[in-house]
Amino acid sequence: MARILLIEDEPGMQRGLRDNLEFEGHEVAVAGDGSSGCQKLLRESFDLVILDVMLPQMSGFDIVRKAREKGIRTPILMLTAKGEEIDKVLGLELGADDYVTKPFGLRELIARVNALLRRAMPFGSADTTMKLGNVAVNFAAHSGSKDGKKFSMTAREFEILKYLWQHRNATVSRDDLLTNVWGHSESVTTRTVDNFILKIRQKIEDDFTHPEIILTIHGTGYKLIA
Ligand code: CA
Repeated sequence: MARILLIEDEPGMQRGLRDNLEFEGHEVAVAGDGSSGCQKLLRESFDLVILDVMLPQMSGFDIVRKAREKGIRTPILMLTAKGEEIDKVLGLELGADDYVTKPFGLRELIARVNALLRRAMPFGSADTTMKLGNVAVNFAAHSGSKDGKKFSMTAREFEILKYLWQHRNATVSRDDLLTNVWGHSESVTTRTVDNFILKIRQKIEDDFTHPEIILTIHGTGYKLIA
């Protein structure tokens, strides 16, 4: 099962795709315009994005460009209109992984989706395992090891590390972490975030006083280097 973000403004297309993807066993989040779709993509984690080109407020091209700039590597399947050859070329250049031309058969689309997911998730899920040098973490199983020796982490520590891993090589602000790991409702401060990062570093870094995996980006937040 994969978590798929569908950004499509046409209600009939939206419903048809969602129903079929859910029938295939996937979890589907839907956005009906470009800007809310882009926000969802930047804030939540997905295994695949199905992205229409022509959208109100923000085009599919702008969304691909923005997501890739932010370091989001989620596979993107673009829906282009018939005869618009330029669309698919531009989409792929901007960082989309594949495209399907409208009108398309559902079977074809599902096949493309499954192919992309297989490529991205060869071991079941792209972002549920992290392997970095001598450190291995399985987020789904809440287990981690360094140099083959197991270490334990709290659920919250796993969540933070997973978020950094899913946004690896991009700067993640303390506010991003507060919003996405803790949620808005809880009253925690950015200091709390720093304390959690310290605990994670003590487990995964060779020398936590000179971190090489989770770097501090001064004045902003953190960046996981992979
Ligand atoms: Ca459209």
